[in-house]
Amino acid sequence: MISKVTLAKTAGFCYGVKRAVDGVYGKYNEGKKIATLGPIIHNRQVIEDLQSKGIYSYSRVSDIPKDCVIVIRAHGVGEIVYNEIGKREYLDLTCPFVSKIHKIVSEHYKKGYEIIIVGDKNHPEVIGINGWCNDSATIINDTNYKIDEIFAEKDICVVAQTTINRDFFGEIVQNIKKTCKSTLIFDTICNATKDRQKEADEISRNSDTMIVIGGKESSNTRKLFEISKRNCPNSYHIETIEDLPQTKTFKKIGITAGASTPSSIIEEVVKAMSENLKNEENFAELFEQYGSKTLNNGDIVEGTVVEVRNNEVIVDLGGFKYNGQLAADQLTDDPTLKPSDVVKEGDVIKVYVVGVNDGEGKVVLSRKKVEAMESWNKIKAAYESGEILEGKIIKAVKGGVIALTDGSQVFIPARQASGRFVQDLQSLVGTTVNYKIIEIDERRRRIIGSVRVILEAARKEKEEKFWAEAEVGKRYSGTVKSLTSFGAFVDIGGVDGLVHISELSWNKIKHPSEVVKEGDVLDVYIKDLNAETKKISLGFKKMEDNPWTIAQSKINVGDVVKCKIVRMVPFGAFAEIMPSVDGLIHISQIADRRIEKPEDVLTLGEEVEAKVTDLNWDEKKISLSIRALIPVPEKEEKEEEVPAELQKAETLVYSTDPEVEVEEVIEIEPEETADAE
Ligand code: SF4
Repeated sequence: MISKVTLAKTAGFCYGVKRAVDGVYGKYNEGKKIATLGPIIHNRQVIEDLQSKGIYSYSRVSDIPKDCVIVIRAHGVGEIVYNEIGKREYLDLTCPFVSKIHKIVSEHYKKGYEIIIVGDKNHPEVIGINGWCNDSATIINDTNYKIDEIFAEKDICVVAQTTINRDFFGEIVQNIKKTCKSTLIFDTICNATKDRQKEADEISRNSDTMIVIGGKESSNTRKLFEISKRNCPNSYHIETIEDLPQTKTFKKIGITAGASTPSSIIEEVVKAMSENLKNEENFAELFEQYGSKTLNNGDIVEGTVVEVRNNEVIVDLGGFKYNGQLAADQLTDDPTLKPSDVVKEGDVIKVYVVGVNDGEGKVVLSRKKVEAMESWNKIKAAYESGEILEGKIIKAVKGGVIALTDGSQVFIPARQASGRFVQDLQSLVGTTVNYKIIEIDERRRRIIGSVRVILEAARKEKEEKFWAEAEVGKRYSGTVKSLTSFGAFVDIGGVDGLVHISELSWNKIKHPSEVVKEGDVLDVYIKDLNAETKKISLGFKKMEDNPWTIAQSKINVGDVVKCKIVRMVPFGAFAEIMPSVDGLIHISQIADRRIEKPEDVLTLGEEVEAKVTDLNWDEKKISLSIRALIPVPEKEEKEEEVPAELQKAETLVYSTDPEVEVEEVIEIEPEETADAE
């Protein structure tokens, strides 16, 4: 008992054959006398029916009776045949896919290309194609074919017979490319054949019996039989129901049919099979699967991806006779993605039916439209609720960028594209952003989004949190956002504070850039803040880096230090002991004699040795003496005591630290110094 019958959706007439057969019957119904140039179809039953109507096939134009309309079949003919037809009435039923090849060949032949046709040289379609380059084409039907070296330097145009195997074509193309440097390849293979063979392969793998219906002369039917037999040894090639074997032992039956098999014959076979079905599945249901399902432009249906190509996706529309074609640009708005990045075989997707062309056997689909419709509703809801959406920037346009969210394109004006001014909008392309819809124009289907409003809201929230928690002394890790001559602005989490230039280093610097740069992360603390003016003063210097702290641990009274004269004043000279730590050598301590001014003995930049005579760390004052290191000449008389005023002068200490105020200088005119005579 038969348990299952599966009928291939691709069984029967392809678009080109259907168009040709319908065309002939249509002309006949107009009351015209018709003759065909070659058999219109490789199907005995159809040919017999046509003959019964007085429609015969001729191989040459000159043989066709003068009162007949000449019909050119789907295979097409060469240019010379049109010349032979001349002014006679004719009906051109060349399949448009074949006409396209004629055009390619003719154009490139006229431009000087050598034409190569991959296909069978005896096939009428190939003979017709060759007729568009003055029968000059090289016809290749063997993967071992050796291209003549003569072609190596020529411009080559390669086309394919519509019904050949794509892998076979690819292999030959590779061989051609090895020899020929300049090749234009046109993949003109018709998918109808491939789709039919693919489906036969799938069904035959899951059936214990395969019935392949079609003329014994039909090469495409024979190919289907070959494929079926390979997977399912119990395969039968039949022309009509008369040839149907005894079905009693069959269980799972698969049925397919060649491109020239009329649906009436397929219907008869399916009917015979379904009568023996043991379950409720019946003939009507089978034919529902076969293609009685109707589709209208504008329908939204679910389909299964059956093939992913470089430039399109083929979708099984479940019950509709033809598979749908989903072009790459109708799959996604994202031009950076290939079809294989978006879908894979077996995926069930919702598609919008853009157009059903029964004549061409074509269903044009769009996934973008479905997504756009669904996402429009989503976007409207997001606008009303204020929801944050995510989108990928797909292109920069005049005045802004376009973000893509679930198939909807959202315009984001330049000033709304970021929290700051973006000079090069192109740099945003490819990034993913969060944004809010700020305007919708229903009539023009225009959506305007803003990234900025989100960033500003986030910044405001951070700012409020900051001010709620900020206090003097609190430490932060901040990022330098910008530099000015007076300091560095540092982002400490949504708000900026200023690190004054004097806070950036213990040493004297002329510009903040000597110490930091934009993007640097600093450990800072709040020195002062004003919640009303929103001004924050930040501290950066660390006590352990304070040169005076370092000096305190290293310098003691009595030490002899090397120092450099950095400044001279009437009462002495300042000498740098270490960076940012200067001591004063009073004028009386510069030499062992009386001098008018420090310059009499010292020069700026000069390195000297001096003795530390006094230290006042609190006031950052260090007293130095060169004189103290000068040996006193031995004298008989007792050295005179240093006057009290001079002793006082020696203890005056000064600092170059800007925080230390310089005391008023007391000019001391010692009447006598230690070395006074
Ligand atoms: S197989 Fe393709 S090219 Fe050939 S007639 Fe059918 S539709 Fe046209």
